[in-house]
Amino acid sequence: MNSLQCTKCSRWVENVGENAVKVTCSVCVLLAVGLPEEKKSYSPTGRPPGWHFMAEFVDKDGNVFHKGKEIKKLKGTLKPTKVLPPKKKIKRRSQDEIYLARHELKKAALKKAAKKQQDFLNHKINKG
Ligand SMILES: [Zn+2]
Repeated sequence: MNSLQCTKCSRWVENVGENAVKVTCSVCVLLAVGLPEEKKSYSPTGRPPGWHFMAEFVDKDGNVFHKGKEIKKLKGTLKPTKVLPPKKKIKRRSQDEIYLARHELKKAALKKAAKKQQDFLNHKINKG
């Protein structure tokens, strides 16, 4: 991880990407976008939790972020990342259920094999 000086106020910004050559600190970013009138702990941005940890995230306006860092030159070049609703918890199958399912599969396979053999025999008989 690198430290770089903010291009606007020369404040040191830590943990910038290794390939980053320019960085704008959070203060300057806030100043640029204007301070929100009231600070809310949560504002619906349409971005999934942890989007800034994603290798690539494109918001609905086409802004492209690589690990939370906006890549301005890529804006509008990519499709917005689909934000999936939180996954429902999948009920784990019990050992019994898994065993039963396997058993059913086996039974079906055996049945199929038996039918095949029967067909083969019938065919032979029919043929004379
Ligand atoms: Zn700054």
